[in-house]
Amino acid sequence: MKPCSAINLGALSPCTLVIFGASGDLTSRKLIPALHGLFLSDSLPHPFHIVGCARTALDAEAFRTLLHEAIRTSGPAPPAGWEEFARHISYIPVQYGDAKSFTRLAESLRQLDRDHQTQGNRICYLATPPSLYPVIAAQLGQAGLAAEGPGGKGWVRIVVEKPFGRDLTSALELDQILHQSFREHQIFRIDHYLAKETVQNILMLRFANAIFEPLWNRGHIDYVGIVAAEQLGVEHRAGYYEQTGILRDMFQNHMQQLLALTAMEPPSLFEAERVRDEKAKCARSLKPLVRETMAEHLVLGQYGPGSSQGRPVAGYRDEPGVAPDSRTPTFAMLRLFVDNWRWRDVPFYLVSGKRLPHKETKIVIQFKPVPHSMFRDMLAERIIANRLTLGIYPEEEITLTFQTKTPGSRVCLRPVTMDFKYNQDSAAPPLDAYAKVLLDVIQGDHMLFWRQDGVELAWSFLTPILEECESCGDRAPQLHTYPAGSWGPEAAQEWIRLILNN
Ligand code: NDP
Repeated sequence: MKPCSAINLGALSPCTLVIFGASGDLTSRKLIPALHGLFLSDSLPHPFHIVGCARTALDAEAFRTLLHEAIRTSGPAPPAGWEEFARHISYIPVQYGDAKSFTRLAESLRQLDRDHQTQGNRICYLATPPSLYPVIAAQLGQAGLAAEGPGGKGWVRIVVEKPFGRDLTSALELDQILHQSFREHQIFRIDHYLAKETVQNILMLRFANAIFEPLWNRGHIDYVGIVAAEQLGVEHRAGYYEQTGILRDMFQNHMQQLLALTAMEPPSLFEAERVRDEKAKCARSLKPLVRETMAEHLVLGQYGPGSSQGRPVAGYRDEPGVAPDSRTPTFAMLRLFVDNWRWRDVPFYLVSGKRLPHKETKIVIQFKPVPHSMFRDMLAERIIANRLTLGIYPEEEITLTFQTKTPGSRVCLRPVTMDFKYNQDSAAPPLDAYAKVLLDVIQGDHMLFWRQDGVELAWSFLTPILEECESCGDRAPQLHTYPAGSWGPEAAQEWIRLILNN
């Protein structure tokens, strides 16, 4: 029998999912397709109801049509079972700054609880621009929509999308406002990256196999590379990106999570608090970057004109909505050190950028060369050291490179790879990341969500770097231009070659 733990669907409590910002991109592109998929596989609780809330004046029918259009035009075939799924969807317009609007919302939700017998269990999903998170959280508190019933009945959960603030101070402010109405166990800070099957697999690979963990340290590992490359440019999100840039968009959350999963110590049990404790310990061990030497550890870039998929494309500053003198970085390469017993002096290279040659996410574990080569008199070339690659996108795979003898009379070595494709030998399709996080919120499982101390530690590390970069001081890392479609600025090429080509 295969060791796996299944979701006990019978144990899922009935509930209502209230989505704020429901007229937006995230709802129609990610949340509704994920919920629709869960509905088709009968993985949602019974009963279950979805309420869209936003300022746009819509009725339920118009809202369902809007969602149907979005899902129909993005998929290869008309969505199966849509009519039945759509019966679980309604819409209530709200004005975020208006207390009366939330009082009316509370009354409508209580009526829906009675109509659909969802027992007062409720998830409030904030799918709005981040500036509205504090406003909505406070309104929910004032309207009595944050309070839970006695004895675990009528639970209330709030889901907050990244970014959780834009620096340490604003992250602390957001947390304070959330905690005025909600308790920590009610708060789910989403990073859907963590719910990707291959990202979850990092812990399984490390801690469910005896062969890797003894080698997973400074004694055997030369360096670690973590790459999250985007082929696309800023697209239609200039308004968001101009305020954010690559460091806030990727490094504060996804990249630090991939780093934590790669570098953390084994928890005593695969359980939310213990896993999050170990991640926090890892974040606490990050060696801060100091102003004097920051430029030696960080390369920042912004894409200029170039080509992508054989077509000429504009530079970042020429994109619609971007300031012509914008200093927003679209590429960063950060060399950092986890200052503890296991990892001392092992560099971790974190690379992410937009308009790179292709979309790719992977973690490279580069082992040290053999300590002594008995083949040195026969081989012209050095022996290529072993490398373990955890592919997250587009290939969900694990690859181990090692040396073998080339067949024939001569003594020659050749590097070969052993591949594991994540989906091979698996009958079940992988669970979409948003479907996974939504199911976890419904079940109240915090394992894949950020805890506040993790958010604060991530910002504590990054905020001084952001301040230095944004100060444009003498020693601040320079913002290099790189051609769209290349692997970033010239200044990063030495590290890029190390990670990508060995
Ligand atoms: P949108 O920009 O599409 O906004 C969502 C909705 O919020 C809009 O439909 C609009 O609804 C309302 N809104 C927008 N601007 C304002 C404003 N200034 N004041 C009041 N209401 C406003 O956002 P997304 O759906 O793309 O993203 C939602 C959240 O999820 C963001 O925090 C984003 O960072 C995060 N996120 C998004 C991802 C994505 O793929 N889109 C991926 C990961 C995270 P109305 O006018 O009807 O009120």
